[in-house]
Amino acid sequence: MSPVLSKLEVTLKVLKLYLNSCDLQHARQLFDEIPDPDLRTWTLLITAYTKRGLPQESHRLYLDLRNKNIKPDKMVLLSVAKACARMSDPIKAKEVHEDAIRFGFSSDIVLGNALIHMYAKCNSVHGAVEVFDQLPTKDVISWTSIAAGYSSCGLPREALQAFREMGLNGVRPNSITVSSILPSCSDLKALTSGKEIHGFVVRNGMVENVFVSSGLVDMYAKCSSIRQARVVFDTMQRRDVVSWNVIMTTYFSNGDWGEALTLFDQMTGEGTKANLATWNTMIGGCAENGLNEKALDLLSRMQDSGFKANKITIAGVLQACTNLESLGGGKEIHGYSFRHFPGEDIVIATALMLMYAKCGDLETSRRIFAKMTQKDTVAWNTMILANSIHGHGLEALSIFHQMRDSGIKPNAVTFMAVLSGCSHSQLVDEGLSIFNSIRNYNIEPDEDHYSCMVDVLGRAGRLEEAYTFIQEMPLKPMAGAWGALLGGCRVYKNAKLGAIAAKQLFEIEPDNPGNYILLSNIYAAAKLSDDASKIRKLMRDRGIVRMPGCSWIRVKGRVYTFTAGDKRNAMSDEIYGFLKELGEKMRILGYVPNIEYALQDVHEEEKEEGLGSHSEKLATAFGILNLEGGSTIRVFKNLRICGDCHSAIKFMAKVVGVQIIVRDPLRFHHFIDGICSCHDFW
Ligand code: ZN
Ligand code: ZN
Repeated sequence: MSPVLSKLEVTLKVLKLYLNSCDLQHARQLFDEIPDPDLRTWTLLITAYTKRGLPQESHRLYLDLRNKNIKPDKMVLLSVAKACARMSDPIKAKEVHEDAIRFGFSSDIVLGNALIHMYAKCNSVHGAVEVFDQLPTKDVISWTSIAAGYSSCGLPREALQAFREMGLNGVRPNSITVSSILPSCSDLKALTSGKEIHGFVVRNGMVENVFVSSGLVDMYAKCSSIRQARVVFDTMQRRDVVSWNVIMTTYFSNGDWGEALTLFDQMTGEGTKANLATWNTMIGGCAENGLNEKALDLLSRMQDSGFKANKITIAGVLQACTNLESLGGGKEIHGYSFRHFPGEDIVIATALMLMYAKCGDLETSRRIFAKMTQKDTVAWNTMILANSIHGHGLEALSIFHQMRDSGIKPNAVTFMAVLSGCSHSQLVDEGLSIFNSIRNYNIEPDEDHYSCMVDVLGRAGRLEEAYTFIQEMPLKPMAGAWGALLGGCRVYKNAKLGAIAAKQLFEIEPDNPGNYILLSNIYAAAKLSDDASKIRKLMRDRGIVRMPGCSWIRVKGRVYTFTAGDKRNAMSDEIYGFLKELGEKMRILGYVPNIEYALQDVHEEEKEEGLGSHSEKLATAFGILNLEGGSTIRVFKNLRICGDCHSAIKFMAKVVGVQIIVRDPLRFHHFIDGICSCHDFW
């Protein structure tokens, strides 16, 4: 043995010692001192870098090796392929693949499988397929890798196809194959294939495998077989946090939040620790199901258990604030996300836009949109919708055109948002032209688009046209279309068409009190009091009760709710006194109480309480009394704002000199200086 070689052997031993004790720094120092390291030495270090999660270093060292014209072996290539997978770098991946071919490894199954995996991680299906096709023999890992590759590259159909071909080629799937193919069944909602796989799992004793079982639960859940999902879940020997998350998500997305919450308690009771995904599932699920306070409560519990909110958490909490119309809460989350996620994030920014718009602060919503450097379809849709619900139809249209010009493709939701803007601003010609253009974008107008178009015509007073439009629509008109026509008939006092629309609605949704009240109001306004009584009787006979009207306002983070004639508020005396005083000033300016709305059953609230004490007036007065230097009041109402209150609040805004924003179920009204943004059409 020559002395030089033995010295290298010694060095190699020391190098191994360093690497075994994870001392990469000293290992590298030693390596750099070796004048001419051999392939074994290179391999040791490259492999170590990959294993320690330093793929960049690993790849850099590989390039050094290649520059020294050293021929890589299978071990080095395996290691650097893993590094490329880790980096998701398709260009580097291709170079490694070319080296593998160049040095004669194109039919090596172990390296081939690694290369398929590498290409899949780099989102390059072509590369993966190329390697796969070149392999003269394919084992279960090759097939699993290619199927998983299709799946992770968003090609579930091809993944299932590969899975079938694997069977036809006589290769038996293992539990990894099964757990990588199940997500494709979930994506495709392929219940039949999913059931076949379930059968295979049972026959081959794979049910104990937690990944397989979790996959099955998810597959059944996505295929809307909740009962089956639960059966698999209940029979699982071992449940990891992933399977708990899956089953809770299932119940939330099917509206059974009660079961989801029970499962959450059961999970913690059984000692399974919630992870970040669990908290996000719970917070998002509660927000989606309207359990908004619960969502916020879970956020504090999550933070108490030492978890930091991520972007998904933020989006969930923002939805809760949006539903709660809690501008204060939303602003806090805005501050939080600003501090913790300084970079731009399109999902958070969009959720913030929606929150501000729905809480009545359109200006901030617009500012966030203007600052976004990247805007996707959802962001554009949100901005269009925000303007539409605030009655800025022209603005909504102009944003739609900007969206189109910037090359972002509109989708079905975009057209709903633009059309609703057209309807609230009486932009009939624009609405018609938008509606007629929907098919140019390869979108088939659905029932909602047709209903929106009826609304556009109806709100502009073109009721006959709206009726003809309904009769000529290719789909069976449902509650949306007839409801839009009925709404138009109320504004324009058209009893004849109103009766036609209402008759349809009484069939389609016999339990909705709103339709009876609207028609009875239309009759009353047309002085057809007998017909009005008949409708009220019909409603009584059918046992339908109206929803009591109420309005609410947030002052210093607390919600104060008012019903008509309400005297429960601690400031009641001041409120009524203030309204009386205000009434006198308003009369001087020309306000005349519209007694039509005080007549029997004309208003949607109880008539006994009288015009002066409608809930929206009380809430507005309370808001003005608690302004404390502010300039905007935001009132929310569960029913459509009445004509007299609408007129009174215009005067109130003028007399007090503030902006009053009232949101009813249909839209936002911005009252400034005696004018409302809806121009008296709503
Ligand atoms: Zn009123
Ligand atoms: Zn208005």
